Amino acid sequence: MSDKPASFIPAATPATWLGVMGGGQLGRMFAHAAQAMGFKVAVLEPARDCPAGHAADHLLCAGYTDAAALDELAEQCVAITTEFENVPAQSLARLAQKRFVAPSAACVSIAQDRIEEKRFFTEAAAASGVLPAPNQTIASHADIDAIPDALLPGILKTVRLGYDGKGQVRVKTREDVRAAFDGMQGVTCILEKMLPLAYEVSVLAARGDDGKAVVYPIAENVHRDGILFTTTVPGPNVSAECAHKAQAAALALIAKLGYVGVLCIEFFVLQDGSLVVNEMAPRPHNSGHYTIDACITSQFAQQVRAMARLPLGDVRQHSPAVMLNILGDLWFENGSEQAREPAWDKVLALPGANLHLYGKDDARRGRKMGHVTFVATTIQQAQDSFRAACAILGIAA
Ligand code: ATP
Ligand code: MG
Repeated sequence: MSDKPASFIPAATPATWLGVMGGGQLGRMFAHAAQAMGFKVAVLEPARDCPAGHAADHLLCAGYTDAAALDELAEQCVAITTEFENVPAQSLARLAQKRFVAPSAACVSIAQDRIEEKRFFTEAAAASGVLPAPNQTIASHADIDAIPDALLPGILKTVRLGYDGKGQVRVKTREDVRAAFDGMQGVTCILEKMLPLAYEVSVLAARGDDGKAVVYPIAENVHRDGILFTTTVPGPNVSAECAHKAQAAALALIAKLGYVGVLCIEFFVLQDGSLVVNEMAPRPHNSGHYTIDACITSQFAQQVRAMARLPLGDVRQHSPAVMLNILGDLWFENGSEQAREPAWDKVLALPGANLHLYGKDDARRGRKMGHVTFVATTIQQAQDSFRAACAILGIAA
């Protein structure tokens, strides 16, 4: 499913330009990694004041479907990637007529659509050994009437554009589904059975244009209010068998897609120990931020290597790690509307603390402002620093 231009393009050499669609924090950290290797980075993003724009060597301030801007990006860059999974697939396809684009429009468009994504997971189950949650497409009231009782209670999710738990409603009854569907402004949804989760994990994999693939250690994720709260690697609940199964599934899925670049796959581990595939992100992922401080090759450096058709890097983890997401809520003391800066000096005094802030001026509740990764010789020590940071920052650990 690649959109390769017909002619062969050699590996990119540092000092040439790499392009990114999207100007968020993932693009910013991508730019840092690419620049560290000597590349120059161009970002295409409609908002002038954006995290990646401040880091990029060039910001093309334009809409994601602006044909002239896309052509300019393709002109300037030897290869182009995306940091934002909702970039229209047609824009990636247009870029791919001129330049190497990784991941391809075809792969990104599967991940953009929960129905396509679940169809892909189901079709690939023989190879991957994992299935998605039981589900049904809800495009009309007739679909709601036809829901099998076994799908309830469930979660109604919009098929497109959901993230951080947005575009999701938990439903117990058919009436709940009807009310939730009516509240979604007529967009097509998918109803998923609510599964008894024991815990959640994600697996980052990367694949080169030559078909070689690598897989990072499995990460255990805790969400709060639908937003990733922590990622712990090695995860305290993860068994060797579960890790092996999830990693094998990720490698099977990335191969089946013919994907080039970094791909993150989220899984549920159920109370009976079984593994269910949830969704995939066609890009570096929040749960992979720990790789910056804890692995030989970060997920962003890996993305650079894959899109530049350079050899993939070592995925080995050298330090146990806990990643804590920093949300805008921390800028506001309980009940106060007056923003203040969190006590970074105290957090940075903790052993193994690495602070990453995304350069966003406007702290808002629920907005991802940065993350802190605690690395140590043992996971217990990393967790100790994490708990101490929570106490400093006023977060219930
Ligand atoms: P992301 O921020 O990862 O893009 P998202 O908004 O796309 O998230 P999901 O990953 O589908 O949404 O769901 C968010 C969270 O809701 C999951 O991490 C999980 O905790 C819970 N969840 C989602 N689907 C189910 C399910 N079928 N059964 C139980 N819990 C679920
Ligand atoms: Mg998710």
